[in-house]
Amino acid sequence: MMSTKRKEMNRITLRDFLIGVCCIPLLGQAQQRPNVIVFMVDDMGWQDTSYPFYKEVTAFNTYYETPHMVQLAKEGVAFTDAYATPVCTPSRASLMSGMNASRHGITNWTSPFKDRPTDAADLTFNRPEWNYNGLSPVKNINNTAVATTLPQLLKDNGYFTIHVGKAHWASAGTPGSNPYSMGFVVNVSGTSTGRPASYHGRDNFGRLTTDYHGTENLQEYFGQDIFLTEAITQEALKTLDFPIAQKQPFFLNLCHYALHDPLMPDPRFYQKYVDKGLSEQEAKYASMIEGMDKSLGDVMTYLDKKGVANNTYIIFISDNGGLTLPPSRGGKAYTHNKPLRSGKGSIYEGGIRVPLIIKGPHVQQVGRRVGEPVIIEDLFPTILEMTQTTGEIQQIVDGESMVPLLKNRKTVDQNRSLIFHIPNKWTANDGDGFNFRSAIRKGDFKLVKNIRDQSLELYHLADDIGERNNLIDNRKYNKIKQELISELEDILTNNSAPMPVRK
Ligand code: CA
Repeated sequence: MMSTKRKEMNRITLRDFLIGVCCIPLLGQAQQRPNVIVFMVDDMGWQDTSYPFYKEVTAFNTYYETPHMVQLAKEGVAFTDAYATPVCTPSRASLMSGMNASRHGITNWTSPFKDRPTDAADLTFNRPEWNYNGLSPVKNINNTAVATTLPQLLKDNGYFTIHVGKAHWASAGTPGSNPYSMGFVVNVSGTSTGRPASYHGRDNFGRLTTDYHGTENLQEYFGQDIFLTEAITQEALKTLDFPIAQKQPFFLNLCHYALHDPLMPDPRFYQKYVDKGLSEQEAKYASMIEGMDKSLGDVMTYLDKKGVANNTYIIFISDNGGLTLPPSRGGKAYTHNKPLRSGKGSIYEGGIRVPLIIKGPHVQQVGRRVGEPVIIEDLFPTILEMTQTTGEIQQIVDGESMVPLLKNRKTVDQNRSLIFHIPNKWTANDGDGFNFRSAIRKGDFKLVKNIRDQSLELYHLADDIGERNNLIDNRKYNKIKQELISELEDILTNNSAPMPVRK
């Protein structure tokens, strides 16, 4: 019976399928289900905002301007201890699959090209056998992690699924690089690439100057005086007209390329930051932040105007910490996420702690700040619960739903530990916490392991958010130290986490 049904499905064209999907809400209950927008910013640090995620307002909070994030936090809840992974693809794969990076094994960013691991050469280690071709919705493609994807589950449950902006889940030539294969019915711009060659429409977003550093389906903006962040926003809002008119619930995965390098001045905001005294590079960065925030404001205004704001979740998140490396960033390396240590690529807090704000119909006691540690794979079960989506999921889901936290019920497991794992050589030098690292956070404690020299560090984050006071040799903490060492080891082994191989 099932196989006959499958065969019938194969004969149905995409157009028929879209019409079929569009009819579902007419059946009744589905039209009551909430819409969900994931608003993902690339490489945005925990301090790259005027909303203070730290317990006090920092200098960064005073010179960056993100009024719409502040507004979103007022209307929703802000998570002060939210995490992603140190770099792009692992976080995006965790969001799509619900798996921790140590389980899906996509532990570094994926090349736009198939079968090209992105690991830098190292004298001591050969690269781990990681899933360098990325996430895949189908089996039997080498070096991919197979998963039933979030948009596929939502689509199968009647949602109109839209991807706009950066995808970067997998290498070109694999199904995972194509948003349509991943379960989206609309795709604007998403490909296997992780950055544009240019943010300027007048440069065609770099599309014609290189073979892969570009974007899809944005040709109508070529030659125009428009910043990529704005073009993506306009496209995203256009795609929403259809499901809203049909009264069909939608899932919009709106993923900005900003703030990823190449840092370029968003002309709408750049001069203001020069006038504030920021260096040229930092003024560019600040202008890209405000351009992204304007996009958030435009989305919120649009939802209001269409009368769907009260039935729409907005989940604001970044995929990793803020970049701190010159020459892209001005100033001194590793200082841009202070009080957090280091930045993008690092296992320290500056590399993995990210802004997260959620607004939506079931969020209670708005304006709250939530301190429970949460991680990007939690969004997978969270969105499934928000949308009452069910279905067969082939992978083991590590994430836990944040819905109880949104309802102000502290039912999240207090004994829960969060795992971070980058067994790869991300960049040429080990910097401040780059390359070959694992970490575990449990309660207020965090244990960091350097795979290269097997050294360990222990920090009490509540007292030492900057990870400066290594407690590993303090006998007072022996018990928690041993607990974290064995738990990290057990989880990495249990998840068959990729490991570098000593030469
Ligand atoms: Ca990123």
